[in-house]
Amino acid sequence: MPTIFPRRSLIATTSSLAVLLLAPLPASNAQQLYRPRAVQRAYEEGTRLPDGRPGPKYWQNHGRYSITVTALPPDRTVRGTERIVYFNNSPDTLKALNFKLFLNIHKPGAPRAGGADSLYLTPGVTVNRFTVNGQPVPWRNANTFTNHRATLPTPLAPHDSVTLTFDWNYEISLEGNREGMIDSTTWFLAYFYPRVAVYDDYNGWDTMDFTDAQEFYSDFNDYDVTVKVPANFVVWGTGTLVNADEVLQPTVLQRFRASFSSDTTIRVATRADLLSKGVTTAGPVNAWHFRASNVPDMAFNLSDHYDWDAGSVVVDDVTHRRASVQAAYNDTAADYHHMVRFASHALDWLSHNWPGVPYPYEKTTVVQGPAGMEYPMMANDESYADTVFSAFVAEHEIAHTYFPFYMGINETRYGFMDEGWATTFEYLINVANMGQQRATEFYQQFRVNGWINDPSPAEDLPIITPGDELRRAYGNNAYGKPSLGYLALKDLLGDATFKRALHGFMDRWHGKHPIPWDFFNTVNNVTGRDLNWFFKAWYFDNSYIDLAVRGVTRSANGYRVALENIGGMPAPVDIVVTYGDGTAGTFHQSPAIWQANLRTATVAVPARKPVASLRLEHGIWVDADTANDVWKR
Ligand SMILES: [Zn+2]
Repeated sequence: MPTIFPRRSLIATTSSLAVLLLAPLPASNAQQLYRPRAVQRAYEEGTRLPDGRPGPKYWQNHGRYSITVTALPPDRTVRGTERIVYFNNSPDTLKALNFKLFLNIHKPGAPRAGGADSLYLTPGVTVNRFTVNGQPVPWRNANTFTNHRATLPTPLAPHDSVTLTFDWNYEISLEGNREGMIDSTTWFLAYFYPRVAVYDDYNGWDTMDFTDAQEFYSDFNDYDVTVKVPANFVVWGTGTLVNADEVLQPTVLQRFRASFSSDTTIRVATRADLLSKGVTTAGPVNAWHFRASNVPDMAFNLSDHYDWDAGSVVVDDVTHRRASVQAAYNDTAADYHHMVRFASHALDWLSHNWPGVPYPYEKTTVVQGPAGMEYPMMANDESYADTVFSAFVAEHEIAHTYFPFYMGINETRYGFMDEGWATTFEYLINVANMGQQRATEFYQQFRVNGWINDPSPAEDLPIITPGDELRRAYGNNAYGKPSLGYLALKDLLGDATFKRALHGFMDRWHGKHPIPWDFFNTVNNVTGRDLNWFFKAWYFDNSYIDLAVRGVTRSANGYRVALENIGGMPAPVDIVVTYGDGTAGTFHQSPAIWQANLRTATVAVPARKPVASLRLEHGIWVDADTANDVWKR
């Protein structure tokens, strides 16, 4: 007979659980979350509050960007002129500004997470002229990679602004991924313009190198961008196309406009239309003009042969607001012929279910490319033979609309705040689309099996570890592990409370720059519970999932099952019993069983018949060692 652990923890019957969750924690179990000194300072300065809200002194900086970019394939040189009015809302006098030149990742010698072949390498971004308040200021191109610090001739005082201009050019990379050439006349322009780095209240200047592993961190800016391309090229991009009537021929313009109120997909322009030069105005160069306010970035795709489909979908039932859904692709990509429908479903589902916040932008465009990458109002996704997978990738990238874009996440340092949520929404939409069992298998296969089957201590590093310090562990710390934590929190709180907490966080922080502590503190504050024991074990400790059965005894109401939490993550688990008569029963245990004692718990299984054997079933919360999950009489 296996040993029963001392019964220190609560008995998780449904009725006693609710009572215990509401009871205050014993002082000995109260947990403080690790708090970096910079975060502590933010509380002292009142830019953030310990209850998770932005503080009365919260601030963030802002830019107004006007850019004209010229791309004339086959000439690989992309040229830009740019004007930034940068507003210093901080209480600090800025003697210098840090700029981001992300495309310098293509320069030989740039700090880089992976290798780079000759197709990838370019001379990077060349700044030919830089002015500050109209005055030319020298700019060093040599040995400048993705960060460039420029001293200002006159310091920028708090609540003042500075006007910056640039003339720049770069050579588009022959190897397309997040940006670059998709084919010789289909180019994806992203991260292409010099921008002021984020200067924030808890970290100062963002000087983290872009190494092509971690992603981005951007201010909310206003953009006015004109993209000049040869006639017969279409440009898709972030924001409102404000001069459709100037660049499109009347028939195509009429189809495009009709799509804004159409539930079904309209073929705005086909490959045949482009071949017969029936889409754009005569040129020779057309200027496509886009505008967007309060967005963290702008991206564009241009092509002279991609099909263009569009439709729209109601994303807000209160205002009946529709969002435009567009797709641009090679006619040979069979799945993409359905992409407007897939993407419309994503907008509809995300708006009405999880996160259950109306899609916050006017449009999305999914472009066929090699990346599987999100941009504000854009996605660049591969074509797949399996349309289920095509829809899945589109849903994931569109889910990013909320995290990181709407929520202003620092993806470089805290990627788990955006990839973790996109992975969570992707799972929940899959449950709705394909049912619990298939969604679970899908999630296990793509998101967590690789992690739980890798015994490297790197994979156990805490999720809170700054992403720019991670190599091997980055992917699992950003995607699967935090997503399991969010879904375990949903299981712990129940859907209604979890949604209230999530909406509380989103209401407080959208359009701003929340950090992990703002999320954890908001959940505690909104739910009125101290969940630090849960957050610490999931996000701040070296941990993984391994639960074990340590003993089973009879009780007045059935059985008591002693469990051990070897890995440390407080995951939900199902106890599946097989009765002596061959029938079976399932007893779900929420993470609450680990509240009083993270390592051992004894749970009540109110089985009405004699039990012959039992085992743990983990669902998405995959377990490192299933050999210790079984008990037999
Ligand atoms: Zn993602």
